[in-house]
Amino acid sequence: MDSLVLSNSELCYEVIASNKCYNVTHSQNLEGCNNSSFLFECRGCSDCFGCVNLRNQSYHIFNEPYSREKYLEKVNEFNIGSYKNFKEIEKNFKDLKQKAIQKYANIVNSPNCTGDNIVNSYNSKNCFDLYGEVRDCKFIQNCAKFLKDSYDGYGVGSSADLTYEVFDTGVQGSRLCFGAVVYGGHDVYYSYNCHGSQNCFACVGLRSKSYCIFNKQYTKDEYESLVPKIIKHMNEMSYVDAKGRTYKYGEFFPSDLSPFAYNETIAQEYFSLTKEEVLKQGYKWREKDGRSYQMDIKNENIPDDIKEVGESIIGKVIECEHKGTCNEQCTEAFKLIPDKLQFYKRMNLPLPRICPNCRHYERLGKRNPMKLWLRKCMKEGCQNEFETSYAPYRSETVYCERCYQQEVY
Ligand SMILES: [Zn+2]
Ligand SMILES: [Zn+2]
Ligand SMILES: [Zn+2]
Repeated sequence: MDSLVLSNSELCYEVIASNKCYNVTHSQNLEGCNNSSFLFECRGCSDCFGCVNLRNQSYHIFNEPYSREKYLEKVNEFNIGSYKNFKEIEKNFKDLKQKAIQKYANIVNSPNCTGDNIVNSYNSKNCFDLYGEVRDCKFIQNCAKFLKDSYDGYGVGSSADLTYEVFDTGVQGSRLCFGAVVYGGHDVYYSYNCHGSQNCFACVGLRSKSYCIFNKQYTKDEYESLVPKIIKHMNEMSYVDAKGRTYKYGEFFPSDLSPFAYNETIAQEYFSLTKEEVLKQGYKWREKDGRSYQMDIKNENIPDDIKEVGESIIGKVIECEHKGTCNEQCTEAFKLIPDKLQFYKRMNLPLPRICPNCRHYERLGKRNPMKLWLRKCMKEGCQNEFETSYAPYRSETVYCERCYQQEVY
C-alpha cells in the first residue's frame, strides 16, 4: 500500500522506485531487499533498518552491523508502530540519507542515456522512469518495456516505435502521433482511444478501422487526398489560444480542449504551480470542492500507537493534518477500511496523519524532479561531468558512477 513505482514486490508500505522487495517499509531505490525499514539505495539486503548504500548485508542498523539477537531486540525497541517513535526515526534516517553519497542518477546497464530511473536501455536522452528495452528515444517519461525511435511521450511503450507527442499510447503500434490512448495499429494521428486501427486522422473510439477521418469511413484514395488538405488547412488557419500560442499541424491538442484543469492532472504533480501561475499561463484551475466534513477524529486525537487502535475506528471521518491548506488536492479527511487497519496492525505501522492525496504528493516529493542539470563529480580530483536530477543548490554529495561504485562496494 501507499507506494510509488514499485514492482515484483509483496507486503510493502511507503516504498518508492524499488523492485523485488518483500516486507519492506519506508524505503526508496531498492533492489531485492527483505524484512527491512528505512533503506535508501540498497541492494540484496535483508533485516536492515535505517541504512543507506548497503550491498548484500543483513542485521545492520543505521549502517552499523549487529548480531541477529541484538538487531531484533533493537528494532523491537524502536517500535515504529508509535507515531512519535516513527517521526523520530524518520528524522534520523533523513539526516543519514542527506549525508550519504548519492549516485548522479539511477541508471543501470544503459549506455549513452541521460535522465533518471532507467534500466536496460540504450541511447535515450532526457528520459525518466524507463522500465527496459528503450532505444533511441528522447523526452520520454514513464515508459513500459520496448520503445524505440520515439520523442515526447508520457506512459508510452510496450513494443512500439515512432510515437510522437502522445500519452498512454503504444502497445505494438507504430507511427502514432499527437494523440492519447491509441493502442496498436499504425499511422494514427490526432486521435483518442483508438485501438488496432490504421491510417486514421482525428478519430475517437475506433476499433480495427482504416482510412477514417473524424470517424467517417473513406476509401484509401479519398483518405490520401483529404489528409494533406486538412494538414494544409491546419497550418494556414491554426488554432490560436487566449495566450497567443499557435497550434499548427505537429503540435499536440491545446490544453483548452482538455476536460481537466491543470491542478487535477499529473502536470501538477511534476510541475507544481500555484493558482496565479496557472491562470497566468492560460490554463484552467479547478477550485476546491466545498467540503464541510464533520470530523469524528481530530488530527491531534489520532492514537499514537497502532496497538491502541480498535476496530471502532473503521468508517470514522479522520482529519488530514494539512486541513486542505496545501496545494496537493487535499481531501481534508480520510477513512479506514477493515483491510487497511489489519495491514497497519500486521506491519506494526502507525496510522497515517494525512489523506491519500497528500501522501501521494509526499512520496513524489521524495523523488528528484524530472529535470537535469550539468554538474561535476564532487569527489576530490575527479573531473567527470554528468547530467543529474540533483539540482546544484542541493546539499547532497553527488558522485559519478565510477566514484560511487568505489564507495559502496
Ligand atoms: Zn490531505
Ligand atoms: Zn497536503
Ligand atoms: Zn567521479
